[in-house]
Amino acid sequence: MRYISTRGTAPVLTFEEAMLTGLARDGGLYVPETIPTLSADQIAAMAGQSYEEVAFTVMRPFIGETFTDGEFRAIIARAYEGFGHEARAPLVQLAPNHFLLELFHGPTLAFKDFAMQLIGQMFQAALGRKGARVTIVGATSGDTGSAAIEAFRGLDNVDVFILYPHGRVSDVQRRQMTTPGESNVHALAMDGDFDDCQARLKDMFNDFEFRDGVKLAGVNSINWGRVLAQVVYYFTAAVSLGAPQRKVSFTVPTGNFGDIFAGYIARQMGLPITELVVATNQNDILDRCLKGQGYHKGGVHASISPSMDIQVSSNFERALFDAFDRDGNAVAQLMDELAGGGFDVSQGAMENLQEIYSSGRASEEETTATIREMRETTGELLCPHSAVGVKVAKEQRDPSVPMITLATAHPAKFPDAVEAATGIRPPLPPRMADLFEREERMTRVENNLDALKSLIKGKIAS
Ligand SMILES: *Cc1c(COP(=O)(O)O)cnc(C)c1O
Repeated sequence: MRYISTRGTAPVLTFEEAMLTGLARDGGLYVPETIPTLSADQIAAMAGQSYEEVAFTVMRPFIGETFTDGEFRAIIARAYEGFGHEARAPLVQLAPNHFLLELFHGPTLAFKDFAMQLIGQMFQAALGRKGARVTIVGATSGDTGSAAIEAFRGLDNVDVFILYPHGRVSDVQRRQMTTPGESNVHALAMDGDFDDCQARLKDMFNDFEFRDGVKLAGVNSINWGRVLAQVVYYFTAAVSLGAPQRKVSFTVPTGNFGDIFAGYIARQMGLPITELVVATNQNDILDRCLKGQGYHKGGVHASISPSMDIQVSSNFERALFDAFDRDGNAVAQLMDELAGGGFDVSQGAMENLQEIYSSGRASEEETTATIREMRETTGELLCPHSAVGVKVAKEQRDPSVPMITLATAHPAKFPDAVEAATGIRPPLPPRMADLFEREERMTRVENNLDALKSLIKGKIAS
């Protein structure tokens, strides 16, 4: 299996190289050269299997020679053993033919644990055998950073630096990043918003001297390994509702387009998915784009679903690459235009996108109303991101096709929004109940590339 860049000019890499690299050297994102498919029989055989078994079947064709079957099974087992639910990704029912896929039973209570825990184990195995060391730098609107720190804390072969927008993440998110005491973990509180953090991260990757000097590796959702890990739960959920005989649809609370893109990969692999619905909050660049209004940046407006507060959705580049029939030049040109504010999508590419994705948005009031309504009608407490998904799913769904809405975080991760909507302050699960007693440790840093570079160099040298 070979990996190519969405901008067409970076070296072609193996899975191991693409995973350890993150962003391609031409500024693009790595994607598999071809998407392997599973037959209807192979999908049907997943019925009743454990999450780990399905994970092996789904991901094995993508990893090539990077790990043996035995190694890969052991990696998967270690990745998910710390989850607080034996099904890993259980489904609950909200209404006739509407289901919620709970992706928040991992160690940091958000779906990002599915990918990050796996990546942590894969990095450890790949670097350990080479005796190599890397510097992981990630940008976060909250959940990626806590998941990355949890996955990499204490591992021998990595230093992990996480940039988060100072004052713009929830207390639980911040404490999950600032309380691990391991010396290879560095939480960096940066001035600015999440897009600023993402922009400085890209700058570091595009500074080849720095990148090669500190052996930079990226674990943001641009990393193909993360997208791959997320493909698995589309299969487990669909199969438990009768796939491949029965078609299903998914609604995905979306920010950086990583999670929904994993659903698209599942569909490409042969999983019968009718609709993939992108759900955004008031930061609705994707909803506007998928409705044919072009991809034009606005400002970021802080919302009660902060993990979706972005304007530049980095994985959307992967969707564009396929929509433009894998023309790397065309994608590179669009990304140049984006630097100047935005671009319009040609009619042919727009038709390709609309064949796969539909979309909707939820305002702040609608999100709060949905949290309240779901509590009253089903007893479920939703986090605000999941509520954005449920609101859009209810609007968009065809009642005859099962709709699966992804619940991306545990309500206790966003207690203020949940309490404001329902009067109930959701408690943290017992395994992390002491989070607010642990000591915090972080470094403040300005929104400046040079300041960041010297900070990182200094910390890994010490
Ligand atoms: C990251 C995140 C999202 C958005 O996922 P993308 O893959 O970036 O689209 C939604 N909800 C929560 C809780 C998240 O942490």
